[in-house]
Amino acid sequence: MFSVQGQPMIPLEEGQFYQHLGTPTGVQIQGTPEDTIFGILKDAERLDDSLLAPWQKIDALNTFLIPRINFTLRGSAVTKVPLNKADKTIRHLVQKWMYLPTRAATDIIYISNRQGGANIPRMGDLCDVASITHAFRLLTCLDPRVRTVAENALRDTTRRRIGRAPTAQDLVTYLSGSLEGEFGRDGGDLSSFWSRARNASRRLGKRIGCRWVWSEERRELGILIPRIATEGHTIVTPSTRTLLERLLKNTIRHQYAEALRKKPDQGKVFDVTSCWGACNHFLRAGNFTRFADWRFIHRACLNCVPLNGAVCHGICDKRCRRCGYPLETLPHVLCGCMVHSAAWQCRHNAIQDRLVKALPPTLGSVTVDSSIPGTDSLLRPDIVMTNEWSKKVLIVDITVPFENRMVAFCDAQAKKLQKYAPLADTLRSRGYLVEVHALLVGALGVWDPLNDVLEACEVSRYYARMMRRLMVSDAIRWSRDIYIEHITGHRQYSDR
Ligand SMILES: [Zn+2]
Repeated sequence: MFSVQGQPMIPLEEGQFYQHLGTPTGVQIQGTPEDTIFGILKDAERLDDSLLAPWQKIDALNTFLIPRINFTLRGSAVTKVPLNKADKTIRHLVQKWMYLPTRAATDIIYISNRQGGANIPRMGDLCDVASITHAFRLLTCLDPRVRTVAENALRDTTRRRIGRAPTAQDLVTYLSGSLEGEFGRDGGDLSSFWSRARNASRRLGKRIGCRWVWSEERRELGILIPRIATEGHTIVTPSTRTLLERLLKNTIRHQYAEALRKKPDQGKVFDVTSCWGACNHFLRAGNFTRFADWRFIHRACLNCVPLNGAVCHGICDKRCRRCGYPLETLPHVLCGCMVHSAAWQCRHNAIQDRLVKALPPTLGSVTVDSSIPGTDSLLRPDIVMTNEWSKKVLIVDITVPFENRMVAFCDAQAKKLQKYAPLADTLRSRGYLVEVHALLVGALGVWDPLNDVLEACEVSRYYARMMRRLMVSDAIRWSRDIYIEHITGHRQYSDR
């Protein structure tokens, strides 16, 4: 009998385990941290029952519950089944908190807040990232003893697989999960830490294209991670090892965003909303957002609101219930159905008023929605700022288009600029310096990255940041009211 500090050591049989830093540890056991997963799910249900706002529930899940699993996933032999079950439960809860129907694309849950998602990581993904990161940390450990033990164990496992002494290139081919030639043969190797890292690399490699690499020239190990949506790649080397986990997680999030963007129906609005953080400013803390807006905006962005035109199956009436237009879709209701023209005007004016209020007196006299005196043009630009002293005219026209892919959004801007070009030429011929700007705020709250109106109107940087958010929330609020009025027939905005 051994004793440590006067206490007898308890011998464990095969299959028995003890909890070491939250991970079941022992010989021939399943290392799945079932207790931790169970605890997380139990607390997630408590969150669901709580009186927190939906965005607070998502934040709490992300900040307090999910990180609990992070450590225990490192290096333990985790089976995927309980993780997948936990992912399913969490997915249902987040869908509920975002008021998404079951047919909505689940990618939105795993995408970052900045791009318009809930930023919840999938446990399955976390497990793969943890396996790869931990293996890389061991192989590039600053302590030479740890590094040598890790290298020898990896060499052993690889040799068992390919049946000969492995070269450095063989080691990275093995770790990348290759099944080609000798790497595909059944070497009878047992499940080990290294085989789990290999499987995780293969799974993740298929999705995001990451792989282990060996640089003969620098005699060092690396992991190559391609950049999603842009050209090129990043190679994580031993000197940048601390960045590996974050890079892998970011790339996975981008991969979900890319998948959603490619969806022909649900990706249309997301293609535009994901481009600029200001459009999704309310996701973290629900700023300037009513509960009603929150219930509307996510399903609207994924085109999952119940409308006649959205029903794909069976023969049913797809006409607009208010004006009889052949197809009742969200773009029709928010930007095409003339029944709501008064509300569109209000939406437009809400955005316009924000800008008018912020204009500094140095820009000169301001006229709103009126033709320019002395010109024969019938155009009535939304805002015209004339400074007679410096002979400068600034024309701003506001438009609220529907977010139907980036191309349509940019077209709306070009059309506006084209419309005012003759008027600008007339003014220029009189010696004025003329600038024409189109202020585009999408009906579902997209702030167009090309909008440089606020800078041109000399709004301070801090105030501009705030105003972008307010304008985005204005657009969403009005669009929600227009939609609800369309469905219910009840006036939503009489008191404003
Ligand atoms: Zn209509």
